[in-house]
Amino acid sequence: MAKQQKRLEPPTSPKEFGFFVDGNSVPAGSREIFERYSPAHELPVSRIPKCTKADVDSAVSSARQAFEDRRWSGLSGHDRSAVLLKTADLIRQNQDEIALWETLENGKPISQARAEVGGCVGMFEYASGLARILHGDSFNNLGDNIFGLVTREPVGVVGLITPWNFPFLILCERVPYILASGCTLVVKPSEMTSVTTLLLAKILCEAGLPDGVINVVTGSGRTVGQAMTEHLDIDMLSFTGSTEVGRSCVEAAGRSNFKKLGLELGGKNPQIVFADADLEDATDGVAFGAAFNTGQCCVSGSRLIVEKSVAAEFTEMVKAKFTKVSVGDPLDENTQVGAITTAAQTQTILAYITKGQEEGARLICGGTQLDLGKGQYIAPTLFSDVTSDMAIARDEIFGPVLTVQSFETVEEAIAIANDTVYGLAASVWSKNIDKALTVMRRVKAGRFWINTTLSGGPELPLGGFKQSGWGREAGMMGVEEYTQVKSTHLELGKRNLWIT
Ligand code: NAD
Repeated sequence: MAKQQKRLEPPTSPKEFGFFVDGNSVPAGSREIFERYSPAHELPVSRIPKCTKADVDSAVSSARQAFEDRRWSGLSGHDRSAVLLKTADLIRQNQDEIALWETLENGKPISQARAEVGGCVGMFEYASGLARILHGDSFNNLGDNIFGLVTREPVGVVGLITPWNFPFLILCERVPYILASGCTLVVKPSEMTSVTTLLLAKILCEAGLPDGVINVVTGSGRTVGQAMTEHLDIDMLSFTGSTEVGRSCVEAAGRSNFKKLGLELGGKNPQIVFADADLEDATDGVAFGAAFNTGQCCVSGSRLIVEKSVAAEFTEMVKAKFTKVSVGDPLDENTQVGAITTAAQTQTILAYITKGQEEGARLICGGTQLDLGKGQYIAPTLFSDVTSDMAIARDEIFGPVLTVQSFETVEEAIAIANDTVYGLAASVWSKNIDKALTVMRRVKAGRFWINTTLSGGPELPLGGFKQSGWGREAGMMGVEEYTQVKSTHLELGKRNLWIT
């Protein structure tokens, strides 16, 4: 039973926000404004400046100054850790406000948003420890006259571009790790969901982060995002979003300064179910993996690959779950699936549903937009009789649409799972450890779940194989990504002269 909470309401008028440079909130002034509507309530909730290229320059220059004068990178790991821990505490104190903004701008259920913000507290706590653990290496085996040192240095000014599906969670899977490494930052949230990024910048400064270490520019991808990808004074860009824009980041880095890139891109993730699985658990997990966050997750388990002997029964079980899940107002504590975040995404999902039917897949349930008076909602949708060549089995739909394919052998299951350009995540459901581990070893994916799905935390690194991206976020690797390695040879004693 959900905890009894006061019924939340959307605001009666939108709130104005400035962008954030050098420790200050900068009002929109004469800049154009982006007004964000709640996708569930069809009301304007926030007004954000559309920053210009000149604003990107001033944010980068603030981050550059803060990096070069070593006001952050020059601190001890202990001092950086203290700021990150204090931030964790402030996020905890502001959990309800942050969660409310996530729901208003993104459309996700408030109970889910609150849990995500709770998870972000853990990210800061964990990364605070890493600020102290980060270290290099030494070589004492090079002979008596040579000593080798490997040191890690922060990479410099990092640009961080984030999407709208988990605005705060994705931000917090990166920011504390980037800060633990000693880098400074310019962040660009999605124009759809900017508020919680602005709140985090304010909280960090309150926690003692020196001015200029984090800067936030708001606005469109085409103007602000692109200016960051091409910027000569950004040393590394961490981009999370579509594979298409990821490709343009690679091209822009090549055209500009070969900035280091971290890319977290799309996925078309398999969930493989064997007949020997606990089918009740597997059904629940498969339904959750596909419909959670309205399927707008890079790691959504959007392809069900189920053993033929149980395929018909299992499909019926998933259908029963899908028809039972509560879709509705995300401010309602009991809602499990909220609104689709943007009107464009709603149209994309509906177009794929139509295409699936045209291609000959059989619609088992869902497939329609739900009329709840206002807002954009799509019922969890299940397609059977799907083949690997259909668009619904190949493309990332980013909606609550699950396709069903079946297999007879382990090899066939692995082949279907790997038949995609993506390699972000995968799940396997089986009580047979041999099968589960064989599948885990052979399916090409950066994140793997056995008898569970979509679980995570600050310890394990995240990232993709194949066209799902480059590099890893979170875990120890999440800090190391934002460092460069310097090798030093140190000669002891008298040099063996070259010219005598
Ligand atoms: P998107 O690629 O359209 O936008 C992501 C961000 O990039 C936004 O801030 C956007 O404003 C900005 N942007 C857009 N055009 C740009 C350009 N030309 N140059 C620079 N920046 C630009 O993605 P989205 O629609 O916000 O999010 C959905 C996509 O993100 C899906 O493909 C999903 O799989 C992916 N995603 C991946 C992960 C992951 O960890 N792998 C996580 C979440 C989302």
